[in-house]
Formats: sequence, structure tokens, C-alpha cells
Amino acid sequence: MAKRDYYEILGVDKSASKDELKKAYRKIAIKYHPDKNPDDKEAEDKFKEAAEAYEVLSNDQKRQRYDQFGHQGVGGAGGGFSGGNMNMDDIFSQFGDIFGGGSPFDSFFGGGGRGGRRTRKGTNLRIKLKLTLEEVAHGVEKKIKVNRLIVDPETKFQTCSSCNGTGQVRKVMNTMLGQMMSTSTCPSCGGSGQMVESRAAGVDSSGLKRQEEIIPIKIPAGVTDGMQLSMSGKGNEVAGGVPGDLLILVEEVEHEILKRDGNNVIYDLYINFVDAALGTSIEVPTIDGKVKIKVDPGTQSGKILRLRGKGIKSVEGYGQGDQLVHVNVWTPKKLNADEKEALEALRESPNFQPDPGKSDKSFFERMKEFF
Ligand SMILES: [Zn+2]
Repeated sequence: MAKRDYYEILGVDKSASKDELKKAYRKIAIKYHPDKNPDDKEAEDKFKEAAEAYEVLSNDQKRQRYDQFGHQGVGGAGGGFSGGNMNMDDIFSQFGDIFGGGSPFDSFFGGGGRGGRRTRKGTNLRIKLKLTLEEVAHGVEKKIKVNRLIVDPETKFQTCSSCNGTGQVRKVMNTMLGQMMSTSTCPSCGGSGQMVESRAAGVDSSGLKRQEEIIPIKIPAGVTDGMQLSMSGKGNEVAGGVPGDLLILVEEVEHEILKRDGNNVIYDLYINFVDAALGTSIEVPTIDGKVKIKVDPGTQSGKILRLRGKGIKSVEGYGQGDQLVHVNVWTPKKLNADEKEALEALRESPNFQPDPGKSDKSFFERMKEFF
């Protein structure tokens, strides 16, 4: 099935304002809402289709790309919208507020809730994890010590009297659409539906206590500084709900001599001009240990040697970067009398006169070749 035009889906024209888009989307979302059309695949598809269209058109940048390049411009080159990347939970979490008044989707339809989304979740735990370049390059398994909030098994709970254990309180709201039932989290129990009856020392009023835990974690190769990894369910617990997540923020420790550039590793090699002129073989460090490389006779300063596959594995799991060795020819900074004499004898020698030819590329040309 060919993808339909987003404006057509929402039934607006290309010049529609943000407000018009929102109104049009709202109308369709209400009509095809899954609570209103249970087990109706066609309605669900229409609901998703409208959400996708609205997701793109309500974002100025995406809308501009879509106007210019069509579906290709917003990464939706595939066939039907069912191949899109929005699922129901995304739609609800992103556009739940489309119904205004802060009232959740469900209560608008008087529905009993859509299960999962209402489940109470513990708070997330955040930690920073320092990784060396070698660890980043190969991936690593670490044992992390965390202080989690866990539900103390000794705690006795009783049903919350304010909400009768439902975790929610309802009230009637007057809105421009008429009277609506609004549901909100019970302020007495915080939504858990239960209150602590008795608790041990060191346990808080929610029945939680801190406990040190060692969590093994496998860091994939190729992660980058600032990347956040998430371990589902390893965060803080909550009474009557599911635990939060453990969020691990990757921090790269700078390597002493090797530099990272994407998945490539850069090494600055310094050689003297005798080695550059005569050629040599020399050991260079890599993330896998030392490697011997050959420097050809007549090597110019600025040459880049590529050590294929000696870089960092791609975090997507395929491909690997290279190590790029930048050759710098070292000019002596001080000379004794004998050295001066030897060099003076060479100063006027024809082979010592610079004569860059076509094969001696400029810095910019070399960079273009490599990146
Ligand atoms: Zn309650």
C-alpha cells in the first residue's frame, strides 16, 4: 500500500496552521481511538496513521523536510504506515495531552484504563561509568555497585482508605466539551493503593529502604561519551509497582596517546628526517598492543598510514574503524658542531631541494581521502 499524504490523512491543506493541525488530529484520534473501537484493526491503523502524520507536521523541522522531500525526507520511505516506528505507547505518551485539560486519554472516554501505562514505576537510578579507550574499543563487562531503594519485605501494608486501593481518585470536570470524568493519582498513597501499616527501622514511609547491590553489566563495544545505556528494572523499586530503570551514562577517559575520532583511532607518530628519507620500520601503540609498521623511504611529513581494523567496533554491531597514523617528521631543535657540519654538506645538494609533485598531496586533499 502506498503511503498517503500526511495533509490528506489529517484532512487539512498545506497551509494549515498548527492549531488547525491539532484540531484535525484531535478529531480523528477521538473517532478512531482504540478504546472506542476495540479489536478493530482498521480503526487502529487509522489511529496510528493520523498520529504519524501529526507527529511529522506538528514539528516545524520535520514538516519542512516533508514539504520538500515527501515521505523520504522524514524517514518514512517504507510501504504502509504500519511499518512506521510509532507504537501505541509512543502515541499516548506523546500526544496524550491533545485532549486538553490535563485529563488523561482514558478518563475522557470513561474507559477503565489501558493497563500498562498506569502501572506505577519506581524512580530511575542514574550512574556515571568511566571507560577507557580499550574498554570502549572491545566492550567490557563491569560489576557496578548501586544503592537501590527496595521494598522491605518486613513492611506491612494496608489498603489506602482514600482510594480504596485503586490508586486513583476521580472527579467531574467541566470543560468546553461538556462534563468529563477526570482521574488523577491518589494524593494519599501516591498511586500505590496501599499505605504502610508498620515498618522496620530504616524503612521510609513508602516501605522502601536503601540496599547496596552489585549489578553486572555488559557494555557493548563502540559506545561514545555521553551515551546513556538503560537496564530495565534495575532502578528503584516501588510498593505495588514495577522497579524503575538503571541509567548508565558513559564517560570516556581520555587516552594518554591515542585519540578517538568516531570509530577511528588517531595516533601522532614522530620520526626523524633520516628515517623519513631512508625508510624504517617502527613500533606504534594501538588499542590491541604494539604493532610494527613500515615507513617507506621518502615519506613526507603529514602522511597518514592506515592500520585497517585497528579501530573501534561499531556500536551497531557491524564494522570496525581503523587506526590512522599521522606521520610527523621531526626537525632537530639543537645541533652540535659535527651534526651541523654534516647537514651543511647536504644543504645545497640537489636532492634536498623541495620539489613537491603531484603525488605530494596537500593537507586538505589527504583529509578528504581519509574521511
Ligand atoms: Zn490511595
